[in-house]
Order: sequence, then structure tokens, then C-alpha cells
Amino acid sequence: QVNQRSSQHLQEWKLLSMSGSIGKPSSTNSISEQRQSLPIYKLRNELIKSIIDNQILIVIGETGSGKTTQITQYLAESGLSEKGIIGCTQPRRVAAISVAKRVAEEVGCNVGQEVGYCIRFEDRTSKDTSVKYMTDGMLLRESLLDPNLSSYSVIMLDEAHERNLHTDVLFALLKKVCERRKDLKLIVTSATLDAEKFSTYFFECPIFTIPGRTFPVDIFYLKTLEADYLSAAIETVIKIHLSQPKGDILLFLTGQEEIDTACQKLFEYMRNLEGDVPELRILPIYSALPSEVQSQIFIPTPPGCRKCVVATNIAETSITIDGIFYVVDPGFVKQNCYNAKTGIDSLIVVPISQAAARQRAGRAGRIGPGKCYRLYTESCFQNEMLPSSVPEIQRTNLGNTVLTLKAMGINDLMAFDFMDPPSSQSLVSAMERLHALGALDEEGLLTRLGRKMAEFPLEPQMSKTLIASADLRCSDEVLTIMSMLSVSSIFYRPREKQDQADRKKAMFFQPEGDHLMLLNVFEAWRNSNYSNTWCFEHFIQARSMKRVLEIRKQLLTIMDRYKLDVVSCGKNYTLIRKAICSGYFAHACRKDLQEGYCTLVDNQSVYIHPGSSLFQKNPGWILYHTLIMTSKEYARDVMTVEPKWLYELAPNFYKKANPERGSKKKRAEKIEPLYNKYAEKDEWRISKRKRMK
Ligand code: ADP
Ligand code: MG
Repeated sequence: QVNQRSSQHLQEWKLLSMSGSIGKPSSTNSISEQRQSLPIYKLRNELIKSIIDNQILIVIGETGSGKTTQITQYLAESGLSEKGIIGCTQPRRVAAISVAKRVAEEVGCNVGQEVGYCIRFEDRTSKDTSVKYMTDGMLLRESLLDPNLSSYSVIMLDEAHERNLHTDVLFALLKKVCERRKDLKLIVTSATLDAEKFSTYFFECPIFTIPGRTFPVDIFYLKTLEADYLSAAIETVIKIHLSQPKGDILLFLTGQEEIDTACQKLFEYMRNLEGDVPELRILPIYSALPSEVQSQIFIPTPPGCRKCVVATNIAETSITIDGIFYVVDPGFVKQNCYNAKTGIDSLIVVPISQAAARQRAGRAGRIGPGKCYRLYTESCFQNEMLPSSVPEIQRTNLGNTVLTLKAMGINDLMAFDFMDPPSSQSLVSAMERLHALGALDEEGLLTRLGRKMAEFPLEPQMSKTLIASADLRCSDEVLTIMSMLSVSSIFYRPREKQDQADRKKAMFFQPEGDHLMLLNVFEAWRNSNYSNTWCFEHFIQARSMKRVLEIRKQLLTIMDRYKLDVVSCGKNYTLIRKAICSGYFAHACRKDLQEGYCTLVDNQSVYIHPGSSLFQKNPGWILYHTLIMTSKEYARDVMTVEPKWLYELAPNFYKKANPERGSKKKRAEKIEPLYNKYAEKDEWRISKRKRMK
């Protein structure tokens, strides 16, 4: 299921939905008329005055009122950009790019001139840039290099209601910067009503409200729960299209695979309908989509035709699509969940919160009265959904955050001014992992290795792997493997050619596992002189490979900056596997006596993914890159390891069990994790601090 890729039909509808609609929006309104019709426009002067009068301002306004695209421009127009850059953060890459493009168009420049954006692995700004959109993660990196963020005159933390991990950390950091730099302006915007909480946190600062124009939205619930929400969603869309008056449809799904499947099914459904059926344009939107296809969703539909946008929760608040009258909400979202006890991250589909459900419904009432079809029961909404989502900081792996904060010299994380602090267990668990990686010392202070790791825009395990690969002299290959792992969907597996695609993929298989298979794919592509035809023939996604190349280039620059040698080890795969093991040791699993594998940290059962080089090969010890939970817990991208590497390369994490007992071989294979090294110490530290007070 998981590996199902778009089929040829998908290509077909992509082409179809693009043909005839390329170019500027057909709307007759000029850009300046559009700008002036936004709710925020009437408050322009009042808003600028509030920003000038206050160092920190919370701005609340419905999605689509013009916060993201207009406030930055108003500030630039009123001269604030002369004192420094106007920066605006977005929780999502897609939103940063799409908004920057829109604003550049409104300003009348190219992206990268006055208006630019900066996301991981891609900087589209120049010395002329005065309005800069960026992901919150990028601003966090910048504050590592320049804690006062001295190049900025204004920072707008947009979409604060999302409570993204990085946004939450930025709250606390920027609060401090505002104390140090009285000339810095901070704007925190939100589409929902947490304003009071934000204001209390930010020194009781004023709240500026943009009155929204919203229309009532009728909510329809299911009478009984539907097991297959995807089919239910598709049926609902078709029903709306065939029975309801004009107006576009927005369907929320959880991720790329699901969206592609849904679009393809909708397309097939529409094609097979008999009789004179009005056209339905099916448009997907998710982050991995190329931006030309993404921008299609903004193009107004011509009369007699309807569009259905199939989106991840990016369309909840981050981007606004005009013309939506119908929302179909299955009530799910894909979330990164972290188990602090085991240290295992997994991506799982969970029910949304009531707040998110209201937000989704609200998308239908922007231009007129709308309808929202909830594919769950009313009792489900009342009794099973949380009132609002748990902030990411309280449910995610904090490894990277802790490393970044430590690198900023913030050592006492328990006392850090989080708006909603993470549990001490998850902080401790992150510290344990960083200690095991060698990034923190016994005292929990940053090591030299840790400092280097913090500079890489990567998760700590990956940066450790890269640094280890330079020492082991196999960095050329490891760089390639890490870049390949950073891109999803390298392999193309259309439904009606699955066997053929699988056979092509199998040609790249390596007995040591998928990491080396990925290396093999990259090298074959390089030997083809980066040819698109080669990709096509081998069922490889050319677009993904181009991205791999870009990422690889970026990583090379960082390796150079830190004078880490980039050297090739040829076919010495042992070195490569050791380097990977020194970063990802915590992902080791041993073969289970019955079937499948169990993780060393937690004895949880996992299975090798059917698309892996090692599927049905069943080596004794493996190490996975990611776990995905579908019908089973699957380990994707797996590699064989030698058990002794685990305690040799991660002595702070594994020990040999019972070193005296049993034969030498048996001893080498008895490995157990060391647990809670920091738990006691940290409690001790907290109590010591209390005593000192
Ligand atoms: P907010 O941040 O308050 O949700 P935005 O500033 O993102 O609102 O959007 C204001 C308006 O700008 C939207 O209603 C939409 O009409 C228009 N808009 C935003 N992004 C784009 C885009 N990429 N293409 C076309 N129109 C856009
Ligand atoms: Mg916005």
C-alpha cells in the first residue's frame, strides 16, 4: 500500500489539469485592486501605527485576510525595511515559497530580488532582499550564528497557532532578543483565538484584530463511522460535484501517497461517468509537488467548470485558495510522534483536534455561505477529538532542538522559557541520545563534536554519520547516501507496471542493504551523465534525483566549511556501514526467533519493508533508517550490521550483557541499551538548583 505510486492516469490528469490553464490568472482584477479588497487593507494605517508604537504586537485575523502577504509589504512601504530586513517565518516550506512568489508578483519583482525566500537547502535571497520569507527552522539556524538577529528590523512569526516545534523555540528566543534589542519589532500572527495566551507570554503586549468577513458554514456529519475514509471522501466529492450549485471543493487528506491515490481515483471516476457531466479539475497540493503544479490551485476556474483541490493540512491556514464553497474533512492528519521512553520516532495518522476541524470548515465560508462534510460522527467530534492540538514540542523528538539550544549556550533547558514546556522526560531522553552520539559530555555540556553537529542543517544522527564518515575516509559515498535518504520517493512504481518497476529496482539491490542500493542508484545515474532518459527507463523519479544532487551540493559546502575531507572509499562497504552505524546505532534490530525483528531499545517487533533489498533475506542484525506504521510496523531503508559495532561505536549507548558468561560469539551478540543515565542526574541537578534559591 505504502509504496503505491501514481499511475499513468495520474500523469494524464496532471497534464490535463495543466493544459489550457497555464499563465496568469484569468481574473480581470488588477493586482492592486485585489490587494485593496483584502480585509486588512482598511486597517493599513492603524496597523502600521500599532507596530511603530509597540515593540511586540499580536495580530489575529481569519485565514485569507491578508496577514502574510500584506503586513510585510506595508512595513516595507512605510520605510521599516531601511533599518534592516523584514523577515517572516512560515512553518512550512511550501507556504514560504508560494507566499514569496505571490508577494514578489504584487511588488513587481523577481523572487530573490526585493522579495525572497530561504528554506533548508535553498536560499533565494540577495543583497537587495528586504522582505524575506523563510521557514521557522531557517530563522532558528540564523539565530545560532547571530543570536541578536542583527540584520532584521522586523520579525513576523506567522502562523503561531500552528505551534510548530521551531516556532515554539523561537517564541522564547525572540522574547530574549526583544529585551536585548529595543529596536527590533516582533509581530506574532495567528488565525485562531489563542491571542490572550500569546499576549500574556509576550509581556502583556497588545492584540490587533482584523475583523474577518466570514459566512455561515453548514456542517454535515456522518450518521455512522465509515471504515474507509478515502472512498467515502471520493464519493462525497463526486456527489457534491453532481448535485450542488457552483463553487470549488477542498478535500483534506494526510499525505502525498493518499492524495495521489485519491486524485487518480477521482479522475478515473469522472472519466467513466456517462452523459453530459460538467468538468471537474482535480488539483493536488502537498510539499513535494513541483511549484508549477502547486500554483495551479490558485488559478480561478472558468465558468461551467469546478475544481477540487486535494490538500494536506497545508490548506488549513497556511495558504488560501479562493473560490472554495465545499470542504470535505475526513478528520485525520499525519503527525510525527515520538516515544520519549524508547526514543522511537514514527509518522502516524491521528484524528485532528476540534480547533482544526473548525478551521477546516471555515475554509468554505470565505466568499459566501458554504458547506462542510465531516466524514465522522458528531459524537466523534464531541467526545473523541481534543479541543486543540498538542503543541509539537510536547510530542516530538527534541534531539535537534536540544542540540541547537546547547550550541547557543543555553544549558539549563529545564529553566528555558517555553510557552508550554516539553516533559522533562523528553528533554532527558534527547540529552541521553545526544550523549550517546558524543555531542554532549557526561555533564550534559556541548562537546566539540556536538558543536560541529549543530552546524549541519540535519538531524543529529545524520550529522554524526557525516562527520564519522570523514574520519573513516568514506565521506564521498556517505554524502551521497545521506542525500538520497533526505528525499522521499526516489523510485517510481505505477500501479499497472508494478512488476516491471520492481524488477528494475531489484537490479540495484545490494546484499548489505538499501543504503548501498541507494548509492548504487546514484552512481549509475551519475554514469549516465545525469540523464532523464536513464531515470525514465529505470523507474527512477528524475525530479527527486535532481533534488538529491542539490542537497548533496549543499552538504559538500558544509563539509568544506568545516574542513571535513571528502574522500572516496571505493567499494569498501564496511567503512560506509560503520559510519552509518555510528550515527544510527539506536535503530538497530535483531532477528526475532519467530518472525520479523525486534528493536534493541525496546523489543518492539518490526518487519523489513517488502520494497527493501533485504526483504526475505533475513540477516541476523539490521539497522533501519525510518519506521513507518501501516498495517504493521515496517522498517524502511535497512542495512546489515555487525553486532559488535554497536558497542564499539556507541559505548555510551550499548553494553555487552554478562561479559563473563557464554562463548565469545554469544557474548558478542548479547547487547542491551544503557538506560536513563541522565534521569537521576537531572533530578539531582534540579534539586540542587532549588536548594540554591
Ligand atoms: P492570511 O495570511 O491572512 O491567511 P494571505 O496574505 O496569505 O492571508 O492571503 C491573502 C490573499 O492573497 C488570499 O485571499 C488570496 O486571494 C491571495 N493570495 C495569497 N497567495 C496567493 C498566491 N500564491 N496566488 C494567488 N493569490 C494568492
Ligand atoms: Mg497567512
